[in-house]
Amino acid sequence: MIKGWCPDLFTPMQSGDGWLVRVRPRRSVLSAAEARVIADAAERHGSGVVELTNRGNVQIRGLTPASAGLFASAMVEAGVADRGGRHNLLMSALAGVDPSVHPQTACVADALDRALAEAGDLDGLPDKFLFLVDGGGAAGLQLVRADIAVRASHGGWAIWLDGAPLGALCDGNRIADAVLVLARGFLALAKGARRMCQLVKSDGAADLFRQAGLAAAIPSGANGEAGWVGFRAFGAEMGGFDLGIPFGQMRGEGLRELAAFCEGYGDAALRITPWRSVILAGVRADRADALGRAATDWITEAQDPRRHIVACPGSPGCASATVRARADAEMLAAVPLASLVHVSGCGKGCAHPFPAPMTLVGRDGAYDIVRDGRAGDAPFAAGLTMADAAKMLMGMV
Ligand code: SF4
Repeated sequence: MIKGWCPDLFTPMQSGDGWLVRVRPRRSVLSAAEARVIADAAERHGSGVVELTNRGNVQIRGLTPASAGLFASAMVEAGVADRGGRHNLLMSALAGVDPSVHPQTACVADALDRALAEAGDLDGLPDKFLFLVDGGGAAGLQLVRADIAVRASHGGWAIWLDGAPLGALCDGNRIADAVLVLARGFLALAKGARRMCQLVKSDGAADLFRQAGLAAAIPSGANGEAGWVGFRAFGAEMGGFDLGIPFGQMRGEGLRELAAFCEGYGDAALRITPWRSVILAGVRADRADALGRAATDWITEAQDPRRHIVACPGSPGCASATVRARADAEMLAAVPLASLVHVSGCGKGCAHPFPAPMTLVGRDGAYDIVRDGRAGDAPFAAGLTMADAAKMLMGMV
């Protein structure tokens, strides 16, 4: 257990409030029963704080090295997780319930998941290396970057390498094999590159695609929306209800409430999105208003400013922080935000490792502000209290 590792269920990472682990929901879905198992175990073995990550994982905080092992065992015993490989695979959460999601999505993702778990030669991939299967539809993952992304395209499937302008069409039955070749190609050519976009920038993508027997010809078309909030119809009578999790964090009782909601209003499953929300599917249109009224602790309105705020735990949750990033971010909820604001406890930018229109970065107990950049970029203002930073953001975002 080494500080700084990208954690998973069996490899805890030390943080300011103890150790943390991540559960990767199979097919991005948790049953209500699984959600309760996680909530109970998070309280028994950790601090009871449960977070959703920007990769659709469920993160448990406040563990010890010993209790992290007990938590992992509880997940395996309850069938919430197995001891498969450590690869990161994100897939469309609405496969099988949203008719606009490509019908092969679950098959393609399952085949790739198995192939990655069984491959014995991919352990050298960087911890953060992300595979993605995006079947499109209402909760499509067009805006999610992945090192190797498989996306529904042109009535079939195509594969993109992060940073490459063109993707390659691929037969659905060949995807798992092709992705393994691409991942092996990355390992062979990486020369110290930690992410696919670095390798593509230095060497291009043509060799990798050629090794996989693919021809890149499809523009990326990376548009779309990062989910929605509230009810969206999937047919005449049924639909999905997207509940945002404020700042991606809740306590065990919150997760139990979500489990009760999905049983009472939906199909008894929580579909986890990478934009820190859960979607309840199978919700009757005539019950959507009642669900919205009951869900007082969650984001149910598109205009809720908290939709536009991403924050890491900051202090005391993380030892690297000198500011209470998540608690301070609550102050921004009063600012009418129209674009993303990232509140980062330090320059590492864990919660949003990409450029944002505005990034507030904790340093020596105060905040610097970076415009159109990452947390580690040069700020245009420095040494502010959160109250002063909030005033400065008024009218700027
Ligand atoms: S950005 Fe810094 S303070 Fe926030 S979680 Fe990462 S290391 Fe900790």
